[in-house]
Amino acid sequence: MSPGTTMRFFRSARGRLALTYLSIIMLMSIGFSVVFYYTSSEQLSRQLPPQSFYAEVLKPAGFNLDVDPFSFLRERIQEGRSVLLLRLILLNFFALFVGSLLSYYLARRALAPLEEVIEAQSQFVSDASHELRTPMTAIQTTNEVALRKPKLSLAEAKQIIKHNGEDIMKLKALSDGLLRLATKTVSKPIMETVSTQEVVTEAVNQIMQAALAKKVSVNDQVPDIKVSANAGSLAQVIVILLDNAIKYSPAKSTISLRGHSKGKFAYLSVKDQGIGIPAKDLPHIFKRFYRSDRSRSKENYEGYGLGLSIADKLMRQSRGEILVTSQLNKGSTFTLKLLRK
Ligand code: ADP
Repeated sequence: MSPGTTMRFFRSARGRLALTYLSIIMLMSIGFSVVFYYTSSEQLSRQLPPQSFYAEVLKPAGFNLDVDPFSFLRERIQEGRSVLLLRLILLNFFALFVGSLLSYYLARRALAPLEEVIEAQSQFVSDASHELRTPMTAIQTTNEVALRKPKLSLAEAKQIIKHNGEDIMKLKALSDGLLRLATKTVSKPIMETVSTQEVVTEAVNQIMQAALAKKVSVNDQVPDIKVSANAGSLAQVIVILLDNAIKYSPAKSTISLRGHSKGKFAYLSVKDQGIGIPAKDLPHIFKRFYRSDRSRSKENYEGYGLGLSIADKLMRQSRGEILVTSQLNKGSTFTLKLLRK
């Protein structure tokens, strides 16, 4: 590792946290060693007789006190202290080595979820900015072309305003979607007992205009099952699925809405006869901004790849799940799995 890389590591959050952990480990290890050394050293010194023993016992007994009779013991005690000190130093080096590895591992573990969130956030911001640029550039270009014209007829001006209006609508749809994805619901959505029939009827009413415009018929045969969900969120999810079903289906096709219950769960499905989703795209369609190549194809289906990620988020909040099966050029079935009440 070069000095530059090392410096960068210690300046990073992970490096600083690892260093904090290591400092704590080393402080404890050195503190323990110092206390241990002084306590042991004191105990070792106790092996020597006290000074009074020389005057009161040895001298009257006729010992020659010019030569210390316990010098060998004194040397052994000193030797014991040196060995103890050396071992404690080695132990602390070992603690430093193991502590560094442990600190690095702990810092990595502690910061991994945070780093993932930051990474996802910055990816989100960069994707969002990228998507916002397209309609804004379109508005800018239309305006610049119009400004360069020496004369602008009323019809032309109206056409420009219409174009800009369409792009503004796109921007609005995009920012609404972004807002729905970005806002973290402060309080959890209220879970209530919801009638599948009622919520599906409400969602179908919302998309009826779009379905009629594309001559797509909606066949709703959802039975009345009571589920535990947030009525508003569930209706939004069904609207997103129905919107997609209409968007990715040919004219005069049929969208079928069905429902059944099994054990603790209720299942609501939205089945279309549309373009289908390639198997390779299926694992990704719930990611933000993900659009299958087919949806960007010459047909140019409008969208930003936000609908399903919003639906997925709403379903998770309602402790539900979205399942999907699809066959290319035959159609897709999105199934909501909900807890029965
Ligand atoms: P958008 O439809 O705006 O692109 P979504 O998040 O709603 O974004 O969907 C993500 C992608 O999943 C779409 O781009 C499309 O490729 C695919 N998809 C979703 N629903 C369907 C469907 N009913 N039929 C075919 N493809 C679909």
